[in-house]
Amino acid sequence: MKIKLDQQGNLKFPAQFLQRRNLSAPLEFWLFEREGEPILLPRLPNLRKLYIEVTTGCNLQCRFCMRNIWDDPIALMTQDIFDAVAARLPYLPELEEVVFTSFGEPLTHPNILKMIETFTSRGLRVTLGSNGILLNPKIVSELMRLGVYRIMVSIDGAQAETFHDLRGANLQQIIANLEYLKELKKQHATRLPELGVEFVILKSNESELPALVRLASSLGAARLIVSNVLAYTEDMVDQTLYGYAPVDSVKGFGFPNLGSGWWLWSFMEMPRMHWGAERRCRFIHDRATVVGWDGGVSPCYALSHNYSYYTLDGVKKKVNRYVLGNVTQTPLDEILVSEEYMQYRSEVAVYHFPSCPDCDLRSTCDLRQINEGCWGLNPSCADCLWSQDIIRCP
Ligand code: SF4
Ligand code: SF4
Ligand code: SF4
Repeated sequence: MKIKLDQQGNLKFPAQFLQRRNLSAPLEFWLFEREGEPILLPRLPNLRKLYIEVTTGCNLQCRFCMRNIWDDPIALMTQDIFDAVAARLPYLPELEEVVFTSFGEPLTHPNILKMIETFTSRGLRVTLGSNGILLNPKIVSELMRLGVYRIMVSIDGAQAETFHDLRGANLQQIIANLEYLKELKKQHATRLPELGVEFVILKSNESELPALVRLASSLGAARLIVSNVLAYTEDMVDQTLYGYAPVDSVKGFGFPNLGSGWWLWSFMEMPRMHWGAERRCRFIHDRATVVGWDGGVSPCYALSHNYSYYTLDGVKKKVNRYVLGNVTQTPLDEILVSEEYMQYRSEVAVYHFPSCPDCDLRSTCDLRQINEGCWGLNPSCADCLWSQDIIRCP
């Protein structure tokens, strides 16, 4: 499509282009260059999915959790910070979904139900991620009353011993909580809150996946998401199942839903098990953002904390939290359209990063070890296991 720059330096967009993109004047753009090519981005807060971390505290201490090694404080999101997010909802017209989950247990926040209601009362789809311990009958009834769309519960083993070894918790207690959820939905003849199950697959629990599918089926789970582990410690490096070599693996399959009475089949999603050419960031493509416990806004989970982990090929890497603004100082919608954030999203959308695991310098590169890249844009996504679909989130 040809557009014209006039003598006064004005660019005129064709009406049909503006209509198709749902753009109308007055409108500001950011102009920047990528490899010498001009890029023009409309400054629109087109957020669709908001991840909110209401706490970094948790009632468990799972063996594979980032919280075991990170440098970040254990803290609750204050009401003022939460209110600063909620106050900008009218300025986020494309927001559809809010996900309460993080490296912490959202149900340990004393105001969690009120926070959830803030979003459900505005018609937004709310997902709650939980380890399932506090999903007692009272909380489950409240979540149903508030209109929560989905509860994602982490279950990393079908055997009580395996589960206890990884999470230090009682699997039967969680199953009992989820049985109650199933019965309550039957009583109220409703399919919501939908149940989703997350399974972090390791060498030590891989053989229990078929039994876990049967368990998810009997609990009426609508969705089973399998993810690999991000190895924060050396003992978890030994537990990883992914690597360089392509492996034939199923991407997912249906399983019978024996619990809900609403539909017959549910779906299991498997992660990719090897590093490949295709890289795609779900956070960026889903137009998501993460608001941390202190109001800091990050583009994704991977960049929302200070921690170290082991890359696909076993190099220890330090990741620094990447914050593009704080909701207590700048309105969330303004942070989303800042020059730095929009440029970063644009670079990730086209994946303008090298691939460190494929580089001859991968074992010794200093930049890589501090999560920076050799193509200029930092922090680097050149090692990201989320973009490979090796690590997955709800
Ligand atoms: S329940 Fe989640 S946040 Fe809590 S320790 Fe386990 S993995 Fe970490
Ligand atoms: S940052 Fe660049 S040089 Fe360093 S390992 Fe990655 S691709 Fe190679
Ligand atoms: S590619 Fe990875 S590190 Fe980069 S924004 Fe996406 S999830 Fe974050």
